[in-house]
Amino acid sequence: MTTLVMKFGGASLGTSDGLAQVLSIIAGESNNWERLLIVVSALDGVTDMLLDAAHFARIDHPRGYRRIAANLRTRHLALIDQLPLDRPDRNTLQADIDQLISALLDDCLAIANNLNEDLSPMHSDTVVAVGERLSARIIAALLRKNDIRGVAVDGTDVLITDDVHGNANPELGPTAQRIDEVLMPILQRDMIPVLTGYIGITAAGLTTTLGRGGTDYTASVISALLGADELWIWTDVDGMMSADPRQQRNARVIPQLSYSEAADFAYFGARILHARMISPLAEARLPLRIKNIFHPKGAGTLVSSEEGGSDPVIKAVTSIQGLSLRRPTSGSLAGVTRLVGNTLFKTLGLRSEVLIASQSANSSFICLVIPTSIDIAGVEHLQRALQAKMAEYPEKMPWEIERVSLVTAIGRGLQRAPRLIARVLEQMDGIEICGIALGASNCSVTVALARKDSREAVARIHDLIVKTDSNSA
Ligand code: ASP
Ligand code: MG
Repeated sequence: MTTLVMKFGGASLGTSDGLAQVLSIIAGESNNWERLLIVVSALDGVTDMLLDAAHFARIDHPRGYRRIAANLRTRHLALIDQLPLDRPDRNTLQADIDQLISALLDDCLAIANNLNEDLSPMHSDTVVAVGERLSARIIAALLRKNDIRGVAVDGTDVLITDDVHGNANPELGPTAQRIDEVLMPILQRDMIPVLTGYIGITAAGLTTTLGRGGTDYTASVISALLGADELWIWTDVDGMMSADPRQQRNARVIPQLSYSEAADFAYFGARILHARMISPLAEARLPLRIKNIFHPKGAGTLVSSEEGGSDPVIKAVTSIQGLSLRRPTSGSLAGVTRLVGNTLFKTLGLRSEVLIASQSANSSFICLVIPTSIDIAGVEHLQRALQAKMAEYPEKMPWEIERVSLVTAIGRGLQRAPRLIARVLEQMDGIEICGIALGASNCSVTVALARKDSREAVARIHDLIVKTDSNSA
């Protein structure tokens, strides 16, 4: 049985042109594989709007969340207006959209009525989950109209997670069981499940989300548990790029990455992939391709167990936010790393994200990575939580907390290539560095620096990548 899982992101789904591509890709691949499963995100920008709606609900601002609900309704209805659907299909879909929007308003009202409670991410999850539910129904209807038997499936019927709201992790055993009960019967009837990414449910029945960009994570976990042959992530760029193409005009596609390289790349900020999505694929040795819906024949990027060569090389540069903690006196780091660890876990459900810890005769420094799956509100929440916790022990915790940037060069064999590392660091001439780390999997070198210097540092490392490439070509 050959099985392919394909994920489509919001940028591919938001316009009728994009949807036409999505449709033709699904139609083509449905002839090439015995089983096909589709995972979809919300339309571009919809999750941001829903997070805003949750915020308005929290501050009891009904005009704010009602306006967003109305906008979302108009946007989805306008999209289905452009699609070649029959009247009965269109009517059913409109009724579905209306029902989801009215449930959204009910959820916002429920949040607003709970004014005393600090709006925990838990409340947002039910609100935010609407985005993927809307898009999955639209794609499934479009497939059916084109004689492809698509069925929308809610992640809350399949993906069982822990209870870290806003950044949940799938529970593999119970999810595998749901796959057998819910997805297998659909696949066995030769139909194509169109599964909502990003959303899941706790054992107690509360809706959760997997963190920003979480549709990738859904796709990876489901592919691995389903025993799929490949996972393809469709996006609107040609693959994983050597740098963010919006910032480095000469960024180029990386043809091949190992799982460890891709994992470090995602962890250190490549927004194209969710930070935790690689490990299920690596364990299952399941190849991942990243492809452009507008150039479907292009090779894209392949992530697999192939090393793709043995010479040490830098393939990409990326940057991400971090928090640094600095204290002007020396002393044991044990107390503060424990406190940071506990606070991280309590506020964001993250474990051991401390990246750099250093100590000298007269100062101490700790730096941690803020994953891209945490939105900006989450970062502020964490910063405040850490400050509040430290204020409880003013004599022991004279730490200053600051946001920093972590600029990372991703490559292969770095443990054997001090000269290559030196060349990366040489690029930082004149930029003040507050910490350096070699990634544990030997695929990354990270430099912590002030946020204002991040762009320049990325550009310089990217120049080095481009130069080295053209020398070896
Ligand atoms: N819609 C969610 C987000 O914007 C999940 C995803 O796109 O993967 O983060
Ligand atoms: Mg994404």
